[in-house]
Amino acid sequence: MGADQSVLGPPAPPGSLSDLDVQRLRQDFPILKEKIHGKPLVYLDNAATSQKPRAVIDAISRFYSSENSNVHRGVHLLSQRATEEYENARIKIQRYINAADSKEIIFVRGATEAINLVSNSYGRKHVQEGDEIVVSAMEHHSNIVPWQILCQEKGARLRVIPMNDRGELLLEEYEKLLNPKTRLVAVVHVSNALGTINPVRKIIEMAHQNNVPVLLDGAQAAAHLRLDVQELDCDFYAISGHKVYGPTGIGILYGKADLLESMPPYQGGGDMIRSVTFEKTLYNVLPYKFEAGTPNIAGGVGLGAAVGYIEQIGMENISVREQELLSYATEQVSTIPGLRPIGTAREKAGVLAFVLDGIHAHDIGTILDQDGIAIRTGHHCTQPVMDHFGVPATARASFSFYNTREEVDALVQGLRKVREVFS
Ligand code: PMP
Repeated sequence: MGADQSVLGPPAPPGSLSDLDVQRLRQDFPILKEKIHGKPLVYLDNAATSQKPRAVIDAISRFYSSENSNVHRGVHLLSQRATEEYENARIKIQRYINAADSKEIIFVRGATEAINLVSNSYGRKHVQEGDEIVVSAMEHHSNIVPWQILCQEKGARLRVIPMNDRGELLLEEYEKLLNPKTRLVAVVHVSNALGTINPVRKIIEMAHQNNVPVLLDGAQAAAHLRLDVQELDCDFYAISGHKVYGPTGIGILYGKADLLESMPPYQGGGDMIRSVTFEKTLYNVLPYKFEAGTPNIAGGVGLGAAVGYIEQIGMENISVREQELLSYATEQVSTIPGLRPIGTAREKAGVLAFVLDGIHAHDIGTILDQDGIAIRTGHHCTQPVMDHFGVPATARASFSFYNTREEVDALVQGLRKVREVFS
């Protein structure tokens, strides 16, 4: 069933997603009926990528079946239709994050490309020798490496906000890092390795007091929290479509219009120009200045359908449901002997990472997989986080609103089995 015929009808009041609602919503996700090694799929790898509702699958299929054409350049009807669909998706996403204008929504490949766009464009323009970029100790590699590349090129320095053993950033240390040489603060909104929800409003406020812009890596947050970029007052926000029930290969960079206007293009090519001669090129207006080449049109349309689907359920409902699941799972896994949770921040979104005494995370993942339970094991592209906690890897279960208590029970049962195998 697609978003248009939602089982829920109009958005429900916050906190009212019942078990029955969840059972019905699960019907929207065809893959949840899959069997893995003959067992029902228990999908607890949502932080890596979320599953796709029928509304998204259908929107992509409909696009290729009856609207496919290139955008922005055609006078023929099909091209106009494709352009309209693609630009409508941009407006849906603008509303989803409450950006002031749709020109502040740049379609990119995902959070990684969004961050690389800012480091290559804003960073190259504004960062000079001796300047500093501030990141945090819990960043995904995609919010570390682009800044390292920039720092190496410019002779600038990467500074790191430390965290405590719960996985919470130390704001008093952050304050000490901000100084006249700071050019940008780039921090993750919700950590994929720990689940920590960072106090980003405070982080932004403190940076702005020093006239420093802030980029938030929202790859995880966008699926779990209601977003309002104007209320947050962030300068840049990076999102991956595939983590918010949309397709892979599409995401967005939000940027404040005045900042984006002042930035040079990231890539050159078709669509990002107003006119070209061999002597001089004039660039297109926002958002097209940053969208060189034929974009992922069907991806954009699919992402538009995904945010429409989420809005119909209601992000508040999703957040409440996921918090309930996280509390239940945290409580249940604490009964497993030798289990050490990694990431116990007071403010967390649906991530439960842990290690089991003397058992490698990959062995945990492999044994659970035999029972159809999909979790992620490894460093989660956050090697500095693993170093902080002195572990090579963790096992991570990550939740979506479509997960159930029964699935959490299956995880706990699976972990007991892992213990037995290794006892
Ligand atoms: N940041 C965080 C916090 C993430 O969890 C991820 C994906 N694991 C990324 C950035 C990168 O996202 P993508 O690979 O979709 O570009």
